Amino acid sequence: MVQSSVLGFPRMGANRELKKATEAYWAGKTTKEELLNEGKRLRLEHWKIQKDAGIDIIPSNDFAFYDQVLSQIQLFGVVPERYTKYNLDPIDEYFAMGRGLQRPADGDKPAVDVPALEMVKWFDSNYHYVKPTLQDNQSFKLDSNPKPVVEFLEAKEAGIITRPVLLGPVSFLHLGKPDRGQSIDPIDALDKLLPLYSDLLKQLKDAGAETVQIDEPILVYDLPEKVKAAFKPAYEKLGSLGSSAPKIVLATYFGDIVHNIDVLENLKSLYAIHIDLVRNPEQLDTVLAALGPNQILSAGVVDGRNIWKTNFQKAIEKVEAAVQKLGKDRVIVASSSSLLHTPHTLKSEKNLDPEIADWFSFASEKTVEIATIAKAVTEGPASVREALEANAKSQQARASSKRTNDQAVKERQQNVTPEQHNRKSEFPVRIAAQQKRLNLPLFPTTTIGSFPQTKEIRIQRNKFTKGEISAAEYEKFIEKEIQDVVKIQEELGLDVFVHGEPERNDMVQYFGERLNGYAFTTNGWVQSYGSRCVRPPIVVGDISRPAPMTVKESKYAASISKKPMKGMLTGPITCLRWSFPRDDVHQSVQAQQLALALRDEVVDLEQGGVYVIQVDEPALREGLPLRKGKERTDYLKWAVDAFRLATAGVEDGTQIHSHFCYSEFQDFFYAIAALDADVLSIENSKSDAKLLKVFVDEAYPRHIGPGVYDIHSPRVPSQQEIHDRIQEMLQYLKPEQLWIDPDCGLKTRQWKETKAALTNMVNAAKAFRAQY
Ligand code: GLN
Ligand code: ZN
Repeated sequence: MVQSSVLGFPRMGANRELKKATEAYWAGKTTKEELLNEGKRLRLEHWKIQKDAGIDIIPSNDFAFYDQVLSQIQLFGVVPERYTKYNLDPIDEYFAMGRGLQRPADGDKPAVDVPALEMVKWFDSNYHYVKPTLQDNQSFKLDSNPKPVVEFLEAKEAGIITRPVLLGPVSFLHLGKPDRGQSIDPIDALDKLLPLYSDLLKQLKDAGAETVQIDEPILVYDLPEKVKAAFKPAYEKLGSLGSSAPKIVLATYFGDIVHNIDVLENLKSLYAIHIDLVRNPEQLDTVLAALGPNQILSAGVVDGRNIWKTNFQKAIEKVEAAVQKLGKDRVIVASSSSLLHTPHTLKSEKNLDPEIADWFSFASEKTVEIATIAKAVTEGPASVREALEANAKSQQARASSKRTNDQAVKERQQNVTPEQHNRKSEFPVRIAAQQKRLNLPLFPTTTIGSFPQTKEIRIQRNKFTKGEISAAEYEKFIEKEIQDVVKIQEELGLDVFVHGEPERNDMVQYFGERLNGYAFTTNGWVQSYGSRCVRPPIVVGDISRPAPMTVKESKYAASISKKPMKGMLTGPITCLRWSFPRDDVHQSVQAQQLALALRDEVVDLEQGGVYVIQVDEPALREGLPLRKGKERTDYLKWAVDAFRLATAGVEDGTQIHSHFCYSEFQDFFYAIAALDADVLSIENSKSDAKLLKVFVDEAYPRHIGPGVYDIHSPRVPSQQEIHDRIQEMLQYLKPEQLWIDPDCGLKTRQWKETKAALTNMVNAAKAFRAQY
């Protein structure tokens, strides 16, 4: 029979109970026991959901209070001395690594002050993991009460035999890094780490685990030879444990493993291989051909990264193709990856239009889908006829819906011309026209868009959303906010103003709410990192702009300010990347639709007298496909095209800005240059100014504003500090190219420090002006 399996389940709970429980614990409002109990309760609840859905192979140890990689860091004792030295309770040490810990001395307990370990994006998802951080002479020690064993037994006690999940040794090390001042290549520690895996596997077997899921997602990357070569000896060693360890299911996801297929050829002793057939269905044949005579294929056909109902017909065809070659007993139907990246359940959504609600499937619903597909293949389609029919009907309805077939949008896309991607003139002509219009001094100062989102702003927005104040009242309030920030900017002596974004809840949601083709959930939370969850908007259909989205506020701001006002938009790639995209049309098509909608907005802003327009694209880099090569160049082509299409509709004298929250462009500088933005503002204050060298090397001709101070901290930089930073930047950038601005928007800051920091920034710019 074909079995069904889930690679991991979201851990927050239907109502983000885990978030609430951890935050209450951090705030000292609850005890450790209460937190641990809540974790236990949630685990049990999530196992039951999967069991009731009919899932044969249910994961355990997919739970974590902060992050599953961090849990493993602690499991193996990869805890730097700066944390262990305080002898904290294990759970506190764990959170200290995840989020830092600062606490005053208490009786005989010394004060604690330690920053968090580095946290970075988990592959190309919006989840973040804590990086294993190794010492040159790193030693490892398995926790005496290993979490995977504890949680396996917990499930067993509840009558559920689970498949524990571990991050594999090669991925665990390769995703890590040497600690500050250390030079170890993490993979060199493999020999020392492997005995812990062996020990752990034996303990799991003794506890009753028949199989274990070992994730090696780095197999979807291009790997250094040394890392690639590490797989064979590592898994031979673990394989040699024979019947004293559970059978190993090696899991990969978020890409294909065809380029590393020789690794797989070397792992024929493993029990099963899991591949992501949602992202890369075409890898099936290659992987089937590489399997050993008894190996099992775990076919990831239900999307763990998106919220769409699975197309049963297509998924079943895929599974059948594998069954044909391997037979039913050697195929498992599975989620493509962990379901961690999807919201808990669709049942919590009460306000969705029934038409589109029928198109969605969240984690709980996906477990039922997986079981249904497995049953269809095992017992034949007749066994689940009703479910198949309902699914086909839903697919059909979505394909033929007005929302996914907006003729006006499609026609407009067909008529897009290459010329629409180009500004009227080259940069030298443009900047002359802009200079004439804007009359800016050397070293112009500006900010990135948002000003502090005060409590008052949130209160008023909430009242408006709840209908407690009228639209007119809310509008008045926003106007007053704009007046205030304009006045403050005048007093500060900034050169290009912004309206401050007081009306915006979120830089993507705000636009999504004003566009056709978007939908929103009330409870569709997905873990981003630690206790932080996001609720991505969903692109449900063809996108168009029924009416101007930002013109009223920007135009008003421009009308009351003496200096040029900068309009503020979120770019097409960021709107797409921070949403759940459609899976029925290519992302380039969705990006182009967003670009066309934004193009109209840009032109309307210009017509409204806003002659500086910033289009933020902080998500451009994170969309980069994981491997170099065609996929990456293709992405950059359509991403750049979308930005250009959005911005090229204006006159030469209108200045286009763009903003990025990083300055590591080395890998794809040509694409950044190809955006053809007149001014780029980038985050740089915490990075090495040397990163700016690429602008010199590539003879970048346009203007750049590398952030001169960090906005993530309330700390006020002195004028001298900013002065020194500008001096450093002038080693790489010409004075006539350089703008002076902070790293990013100021919405998370307080007014007090904002004013102080900007005063120092403006004074530093003035001092340079006097010199040049
Ligand atoms: N304009 C946005 C702001 O200032 C930019 C935010 C971002 O880059 N993430 O808030
Ligand atoms: Zn930013």
